[in-house]
Amino acid sequence: MAIQTLNPATNEVIETFQALSAGEVNRKLEAAQEAFQSWKKTGFEERARYMNKCADLLEQDAEKYGRIITLEMGKPLKAAIGEVRKCASACRYYAENAADFLKDEEIETSASRSLISYEPLGVVLAVMPWNFPFWQVFRFAAPALMAGNVGVLKHASNVPQCALAIEEVIREAGFPENVFQSLLVESKDVDAIIENDIVKAVTLTGSEMAGSKVAEKAGQQIKKTVLELGGSDPFIVLEDADLEQASSIAVQSRMVNTGQSCIAAKRFIVVESIANDFLKQMKQKMAALKTGNPLEEECDYGPLARVDLAEELEKQVQETIEKGAEVVLEGGRSDKNSAYFKPMILKNVKPGTPAYEDEMFGPVASVMIVKDEQEAINLANDHRYGLAGSVWTKDKERGLKVARQVESGAVFVNALVASSPEMPFGGIKKSGYGRELSYIGIREFVNQKSIWVG
Ligand code: NDP
Repeated sequence: MAIQTLNPATNEVIETFQALSAGEVNRKLEAAQEAFQSWKKTGFEERARYMNKCADLLEQDAEKYGRIITLEMGKPLKAAIGEVRKCASACRYYAENAADFLKDEEIETSASRSLISYEPLGVVLAVMPWNFPFWQVFRFAAPALMAGNVGVLKHASNVPQCALAIEEVIREAGFPENVFQSLLVESKDVDAIIENDIVKAVTLTGSEMAGSKVAEKAGQQIKKTVLELGGSDPFIVLEDADLEQASSIAVQSRMVNTGQSCIAAKRFIVVESIANDFLKQMKQKMAALKTGNPLEEECDYGPLARVDLAEELEKQVQETIEKGAEVVLEGGRSDKNSAYFKPMILKNVKPGTPAYEDEMFGPVASVMIVKDEQEAINLANDHRYGLAGSVWTKDKERGLKVARQVESGAVFVNALVASSPEMPFGGIKKSGYGRELSYIGIREFVNQKSIWVG
């Protein structure tokens, strides 16, 4: 794929970038390694100063950066601005807490003193996707840099200006040269970067296929990986749920980022006694959403990020319908050359169809009706992904009991699934491994060194 800014709302190519040559990549990696030698010796206070400055700049220029996001991947501007502000919150969170999360941990043993010391690993490669092109990067960079690592970013080929803007804001915040660099390279160039001895670890957010390829290469090189891959999150609506609230959040969750979110609710598993009411409300609310120019205030959802993603989603929907699903809300594409895709609701989605088995990365909700709570849990767990999920019931204790039985990295009871700096984020099964955010995330890319004093 060309490294290119192509506005998905208009199909206009704005700018094409030349990929770095192998020699240029190597020079940048060497510069990163050199930067690490002094960066690792800085104290938390100094790092926090730059990180807080970075948060100030992100807040101050949220609209400028939001416009770049919208231009490159089509999300409504108000959501893009919100994304940039969220990055600032992650920067502040780690600026404030990193010293505490990584302070020496004294352990009682037979030694006169024994402790765990958390030390940076060095240059960490981040392979990142286009769907939250700022947030996904800062979620990695804020803890990694506070821990004393340096970062190199291979961003998705359709968001090069986001990649460059992130490099710029980090530099402007005062971080020393080459502590964070964007490498404009294609995915075929990633193997050589992983093979380079300078690179010590890799984090990837993206598809299962990309995750598996990158982890395979890193595994050959005995380099640690964190993988945040796809999801097909269940949204379980029990008979005692507040249907007004559940149906509103159902629509919000499925439509977040025009459906292109790994933690969007994708499978709506509804107990039969309230299924008709729930579906009626969900349909009404989804149909009321407005599309249009993502730069305009009243636009609720924009185009998908690329035409090929819209084509793929259309194929998944067609196959699911051919194999027996019913269309509750009509939608989809009206123009073959466009990345716009109107929201749809499908019901009676059967095993063996893409909507049941795979990730639907766009505004298509799959509704499945079940007899009772147990059948809902079984169906929720009948999937190779296990990223997140939610449960809707007025009985919080019941919600908690169900939450414990859902196989995923997170479950929210009566709340929209979202990431926040304080809570660990990541999946199980084919959704990946390792965690980002919280004190757990900052400890992924450090040497957890045991020191024993006899
Ligand atoms: P990819 O997983 O292909 O892209 C994510 C990142 O991985 C990009 O930087 C990409 O680079 C890179 N990449 C892809 N293949 C390789 C490889 N073999 N080696 C090294 N790096 C690689 O996502 P797509 O954009 O193709 O989207 C396809 C599907 O992936 C979506 O429909 C969705 O289901 C899922 N997805 C999930 C995301 C999530 O948040 N969980 C995010 C994005 C996608 P490049 O852009 O240059 O190919």
